[in-house]
Amino acid sequence: MTDRLVIVGAGQAGFALAAKLRSQKDARAITMVGAEDVPPYQRPPLSKKYLLGEMEFDRLTFRPESWYAENGVEIRLSTYVEQIDRGAKCVRMQDGSSLDYHTLALTTGAVPRTLPAAMGGDLGGVHVMRDKRDADRLVGEMRPGRRLLVIGGGYIGLEAAAVARRLGAEVTVIEMADRILARVAAPQTAEMIRTIHVQHGVTIRERTGLTRLVGRDGRVHGAELSDGTVLDVDFVIVGIGVTPADRLARESGLSVGNGVVVDAFGRTSDPSIVAAGDCTLLPWKGLQVRLESVQNAVDQAEAVAAILAGSGIAYEPKPWFWSDQYDVKLQIAGFNLGYDETVVRPGMREGSVSVWYFRDGRFVAVDAINDAKAYVTGKKLLESGIEPDRALLSDAAADLKQLLS
Ligand SMILES: Cc1cc2nc3c(=O)[nH]c(=O)nc-3n(C[C@H](O)[C@H](O)[C@H](O)COP(=O)(O)OP(=O)(O)OC[C@H]3O[C@@H](n4cnc5c(N)ncnc54)[C@H](O)[C@@H]3O)c2cc1C
Repeated sequence: MTDRLVIVGAGQAGFALAAKLRSQKDARAITMVGAEDVPPYQRPPLSKKYLLGEMEFDRLTFRPESWYAENGVEIRLSTYVEQIDRGAKCVRMQDGSSLDYHTLALTTGAVPRTLPAAMGGDLGGVHVMRDKRDADRLVGEMRPGRRLLVIGGGYIGLEAAAVARRLGAEVTVIEMADRILARVAAPQTAEMIRTIHVQHGVTIRERTGLTRLVGRDGRVHGAELSDGTVLDVDFVIVGIGVTPADRLARESGLSVGNGVVVDAFGRTSDPSIVAAGDCTLLPWKGLQVRLESVQNAVDQAEAVAAILAGSGIAYEPKPWFWSDQYDVKLQIAGFNLGYDETVVRPGMREGSVSVWYFRDGRFVAVDAINDAKAYVTGKKLLESGIEPDRALLSDAAADLKQLLS
């Protein structure tokens, strides 16, 4: 058999893997199989500029379709892989065809959680936000005066809420937890984001769950909330997180937890199968974590490419993330998991501020709101391992540059 790499999932990580191999002059045969009908593209703008109508889809694709042929990467779009036959070393597609592999890469991403039909999840006007098709459906809904209910106060739901407000919709966000962004950010960051939304006219209801959506003629028109209130709604965005797309791995008997288990080299429990991106459960400082970000999808996939090309070193995630809401840019460096202390530092401009996270006295992450300097400084500190001087950090008048010396 030829030395063929089959990549299942033509998204951020799948593209990064193929592109990195080719940039390393790796000449093996590569076939990328993707369920969507468009070549790989970046998802972040889907809930930001693309949804707002400020960015054309052409600007989202990593490369035009011609790049794949020019670089010897066979790409099969609109093709869903149904099964891995590890014994025969082939993948079987939904259309009945199959494809042999020498090495298989799983870059299948994640799947948004949905509401069960019993709660109205199957009604028209109820949306999730993961791919271009989801965004395109939503574009048609976001019109002035229409009433949007966002279920879940995470980044994607809040970004969509911001876009909807800018397009003139009336927006309510409900969040079951005590506060929005509870899983990902400190109370101080959440409070600042909350304030910005309220200033823009969004109603945020925390400690409020959904009892069920109510439909008429198959389309949503109301929402019963856990506090007994009933809202009139025209459309709904379900932003209650994602689950890793690990079905293929699970069904073929690979080691799977909350995602495909990989080692620091992206190797699964089968020596012929690697994985990268949102679908993986990867080692991080003695823990197993999932990282849902562009940073991880790209860096982990590139690390896997290096391993396949025979020159790799263990991948150590250096997380960063961003979120755009209205004219606010939130940039995050590091990973705040398990933090036990925060320091809030006002920025030099009005509206800029940063929240610094510490665990056991060590700096682990920073959230920078409209404060690029804090973000860059935090990132450099994490990369160099320098611990920031607390007195300097807490002194709003001190130049952040001094933290690096
Ligand atoms: C709306 C939105 C906004 C985001 N904003 C940010 C942001 O601001 N910053 C940030 O860092 N990250 C952001 N992210 C997260 C980031 O986009 C993801 O972490 C990243 O795309 C993960 O890359 P991936 O390759 O693992 O998965 P994806 O890019 O999701 O690619 C997986 C691909 O695999 C395909 N696939 C799955 N199963 C099969 C199968 N069996 N057969 C064939 N194909 C299959 C899927 O259709 C999909 O095309 C955002 C995500 C979304 C959805």
